[in-house]
Amino acid sequence: MTVLNYINGAYQPPVNNLWLDNYCPATGTVYGKTANSTKKDVEQAYLAARDAFTKWSVTPLETRSRILIKISELLEKECSRFAEAESKDTGKPLQLAQTVDIPRAANNFRFFGNAITQFYSESHDSVGHNALNYTLRQPIGVVGCISPWNLPLYLFTWKIAPALAAGNCVVAKPSEITPVTAYLLGNICTAAGLPKGVLNIVHGAGKTVGKAIVKHPNIAAISFTGSTTTGAKIAQYAAPLFKKLALELGGKNPNIIFADCDYNQMLETTVASSFSNQGQICLCGSRIFIEAKIYDTFKKDFIDKVKQLNVGAPREATTNVGALVSKTHLEKVLHHIELAKNTQKILCGGHQVTVKGYEDGYYIAPTVIEVSNNSCITNQEEIFGPVVTLMPFKTEEDVLHMANDTKYGLSATLWTSNLERSMRFSSNLACGMVWINTWMFRDLRTPFGGIKTSGMGKEGGFEALRFFTNTKNVCIKY
Ligand code: NAD
Repeated sequence: MTVLNYINGAYQPPVNNLWLDNYCPATGTVYGKTANSTKKDVEQAYLAARDAFTKWSVTPLETRSRILIKISELLEKECSRFAEAESKDTGKPLQLAQTVDIPRAANNFRFFGNAITQFYSESHDSVGHNALNYTLRQPIGVVGCISPWNLPLYLFTWKIAPALAAGNCVVAKPSEITPVTAYLLGNICTAAGLPKGVLNIVHGAGKTVGKAIVKHPNIAAISFTGSTTTGAKIAQYAAPLFKKLALELGGKNPNIIFADCDYNQMLETTVASSFSNQGQICLCGSRIFIEAKIYDTFKKDFIDKVKQLNVGAPREATTNVGALVSKTHLEKVLHHIELAKNTQKILCGGHQVTVKGYEDGYYIAPTVIEVSNNSCITNQEEIFGPVVTLMPFKTEEDVLHMANDTKYGLSATLWTSNLERSMRFSSNLACGMVWINTWMFRDLRTPFGGIKTSGMGKEGGFEALRFFTNTKNVCIKY
């Protein structure tokens, strides 16, 4: 598997002919190579995008819409092939890629293909002054989209689809750790009739390709999803160039459980919100706070369920928890577990797992840690793996304080049947998204994104189309 750049509608090797190894996390072996591009490749991609922009920016909405929907249909048709590729590249269970990642990637194109036909701009009648203001929302030009490894095609397309729908041309970079499905997407775009140069995909390292995209003087906006540390660097590069910036960053989300919730539904969903995708979803609820009166019952039931999770090869239908994405990430997660062992109590898991036939793969047992306070490092630092903490609380005030007492502010989950309490919490939780009696239920029209160090700017629905357009107000006096 050789992952080439997709520039000006064609696949090509990187200018300097440099390559990165691509690892299969399930086996820990190299199974392909990926273009290790440089600034020169980014420049080629930019020039192709710039040339394509003249036509694409004035292509009728119905035509753009039709092409995006066609991409969606082709992706749906190829769901199995893409799911296999995604699972192999990331270590996630094949079933998850088949039912979540690829269908959602297809849906992103369908959704924004439809959304652009409903997008509108404002007008203001300056009554009594014989003047009318109307606001144009115009494509920005060439924009950059940079995405992470945890939901590779899902998050890559979550940026590209609205950028293209709004009439921009794109220079995009998927994570170098999981580049394959973005590579395969090129052919689908060509087959769907996307004109050459409208989407360009450049593979390679963040510190070369990513940085070159962000620092490019003529790439006018950057949509980035990834870690808070990288987000800070991107903000630094972009600030002197006054680029439009959307940053979707890390999280340390609270999952707050009150005794009056629907217990069984909560328990089942909490297992999913803790360990789906090996806990490598920015929305996973990694800090679980449980009302003291049900703490012991919950602890027992939760651990029983977690112990039943099957850690195994991503291909196996019986696997619930697959491999972590890379050796480096595995070591980072294990390091956090070791730190926790010094001061906290490991209730289950807490170790690497050897899977028969996949001995060099990157597997960790789902880990539950009981913490005595929210200020410990385990509760404050994003681990982004199959690790959650449990802690009891007595009062609403205490748990609200702990939920908000973190530098992050991405999302929160609340379990209660008390309507007043849900209203109080949803108003007072310091984060961008709150789920009540559910988790990760997604309606693509809603604003998506965090506050504090979880990011700035929102994705989703018209928010994304607003991000990917510039406003221009026109005032006519008559
Ligand atoms: P990362 O920040 O290491 O990398 C993300 C992307 O940025 C990759 O494509 C990488 O190559 C690129 N990059 C790295 N350094 C760069 C630089 N100096 N300039 C430009 N680009 C650079 O993140 P990751 O490890 O791939 O992903 C995990 C992180 O992403 C976690 O923190 C997780 O919470 C976060 N995440 C957030 C959301 C969200 O919506 N808020 C969604 C998914 C993941």
